[in-house]
Amino acid sequence: MQDENNVEAVWLPDSFRLDGKVALVTGAGYEKGIGRAIGRAYAAAGAAVGFADLDSVGTHNAAREVRESGGETLSLDLDVTDPRSVTEVVSELKSAFGPVDILVNNAGITRSTSLWDLGFEEFDEVMNVNLRGGFLCLKEVLPDMMERGSGSIIWISSQAGRQGGGIFGSSHYAASKAGVMGLCQGAARELGPYGIRSNAIAPGLIDTGIIARTSDPQFEQRLNELVGQSTPLRQVGGAEHIAYAALYLASEASAYTTGVVLDVNGGAYFA
Ligand code: NAD
Repeated sequence: MQDENNVEAVWLPDSFRLDGKVALVTGAGYEKGIGRAIGRAYAAAGAAVGFADLDSVGTHNAAREVRESGGETLSLDLDVTDPRSVTEVVSELKSAFGPVDILVNNAGITRSTSLWDLGFEEFDEVMNVNLRGGFLCLKEVLPDMMERGSGSIIWISSQAGRQGGGIFGSSHYAASKAGVMGLCQGAARELGPYGIRSNAIAPGLIDTGIIARTSDPQFEQRLNELVGQSTPLRQVGGAEHIAYAALYLASEASAYTTGVVLDVNGGAYFA
């Protein structure tokens, strides 16, 4: 039974705040990307945010933007395929703000090569960034999270991981993102007893500028038709839609939630 006196406290928006928390967001360089939007949302909610990416100009700009609006932040050069780089980034963030409370495994690459043209090298490349990269980051933040008995890991998977591919990613991309769901749920099972939560988001098509970058009006028209047919909410998603979900999963608002894969796809289950 819920204590009536606590009802108001339960629903306070404060549950969504991240004051005093330290967050590491990988793949947070690109200005219109999902990682950047998540980092921005976390900073607005009060967290100290490490923006980490291969793209050092992007992370620098992201950090500057947050600093200018009064937030605590660091720009970090990161290659998630390189264990040494991962170690350095986690340690740099810890020296600046303290151990990581929230890890967002967002760094990812998309490839749409068909199986018959797909070579081992590209297969490994996609797995290394999308799946192994998240594993390396998890391993690096884990000792501190276990010692403190708390932490939240958020994995950016994909709708493609549920359906063998999507508009921009083919089988190997789908396999890497399905692997991310498995790793997320395995982590939830194994780390829950230590107070560490692990949840994933499976975005549908999110316009992070990729559609404009193709500069192909025919493609854009086909895409709009597809969205019209398959997406009940009749629109392509925005990075902010993923950021809202990531804020929920990072915060106390989701304190009793672990092991979920949250679809944020406008209802597009039949794309
Ligand atoms: P994006 O290309 O803007 O972001 C990916 C970021 O990861 C880039 O900034 C890139 O530099 C970085 N990155 C790539 N390799 C890296 C490495 N080895 N080390 C560190 N950083 C690296 O794309 P996005 O659309 O914002 O995608 C973010 C995540 O969301 C990805 O994991 C992607 O698979 C996933 N996703 C995107 C969509 C979509 O429609 N945009 C849909 C489903 C899932």
